[in-house]
Amino acid sequence: MANSADWIAKEQKYYAQTVRRQPVVIVKGEGTRVWDADGKEYLDFVAGWAVDNLGHSHPAITNAIVEQAGTLLQTSNQYYTIPQIQLAELLIENSCMDRVFFGNSGAEANEGALKLARKYGKENRDGAYEIITALNSFHGRTMTAVAATGQPHYQEAFQPLQPGYVHVDFNDVEAIMNATTDKTAAIMLEPVQGEGGVVIPDEDYLVRVREWCDKNNLLLILDEVQTGMGRLGSLFGYQEYNVEPDVMTLAKGLGYGVPIGAFLSKESAMALVPGDHGSTFGGNALTTAAAYAGTKFLIDNDIPAYVKQMEGHLIEGLHKLKSQFSFISDIRCKGLLAALEFDSDISAQVLTNANAAGILLNGVRPNAVRFMPPLNVTPSEIDEAMERLSGALAQI
Ligand SMILES: *Cc1c(COP(=O)(O)O)cnc(C)c1O
Repeated sequence: MANSADWIAKEQKYYAQTVRRQPVVIVKGEGTRVWDADGKEYLDFVAGWAVDNLGHSHPAITNAIVEQAGTLLQTSNQYYTIPQIQLAELLIENSCMDRVFFGNSGAEANEGALKLARKYGKENRDGAYEIITALNSFHGRTMTAVAATGQPHYQEAFQPLQPGYVHVDFNDVEAIMNATTDKTAAIMLEPVQGEGGVVIPDEDYLVRVREWCDKNNLLLILDEVQTGMGRLGSLFGYQEYNVEPDVMTLAKGLGYGVPIGAFLSKESAMALVPGDHGSTFGGNALTTAAAYAGTKFLIDNDIPAYVKQMEGHLIEGLHKLKSQFSFISDIRCKGLLAALEFDSDISAQVLTNANAAGILLNGVRPNAVRFMPPLNVTPSEIDEAMERLSGALAQI
């Protein structure tokens, strides 16, 4: 039987080498744990990049997928399908939004939201088309999302970029005010910058941005691809910050393992009309049935409230590590999205040691690792993860 090394050698022969991978071949998952091709067990604090919100092989998700796979997978969006409509109702009835469109990823969700903003600006702000986004943001890997993302290292190889994006410092309302012109149509922000290293803004940042948008008839788009679906301790991140966006995008945690994204809009912002947008796979019966089952479970069991409890437990564990290891320079955590920052660029080494110790983490920055466990992670799994990580850090 092939072992991990054999599979890795094959990958290096056949797969496009565009992603930096960790040398772990995952073959199976259950709850917060996964196993590799050599039978080694890990605690999974990456969780498919904050996708596996209910852990691996959760029966609510598995059953929904199995049942839907034997009933109906894909029709064209020329026709109505019931899981799509059920998921739409569930999301709209539990958010401040009026309408939703389903695609297949976070980048595609943002594409749709940005098309909407362009059209909104054309019709309501005299042709305005510019979008203000934040430096250090992350909005995805398609050409539009790359242009929106405020990190030059994702952009440099792909010039010329789509025009119309202006980047300002995150958590700086004055910078947004100064960058606003007649050409500005919308402001797009993450409530907490995830890929940027778990950067948490001041409490009043989004409230003040909202006020600025209201005053100037600008759309506020929140990219909740990472922060949505309970990750920060509320169903949606905007609820943590007492604002309502005009447009919101979701993906990652909405999927519970299946690929799905969405943009949601207030009726007043919904500039798109029949013919303006579509997607072949978007919102198909399989992915929406899984997303519906997961979201229903999340809401019925008030998982966001549970996340708030676990946040305290995780922060406690991280502080313990900080008191043990002087090279830990900062802890950032909101809900079950956390980062540990080091005083030098050791995250590659930390990941290698963590893999060996049986804890999967993300090296979000050269000097920081990110934690995004399943939202139903137990206190004892958090304790065990901290113990394993402590062992890994002890060998730095
Ligand atoms: C991951 C992420 C995206 C991109 O999502 P994909 O599904 O990889 O296209 C966009 N925005 C944010 C905030 C993300 O974290």
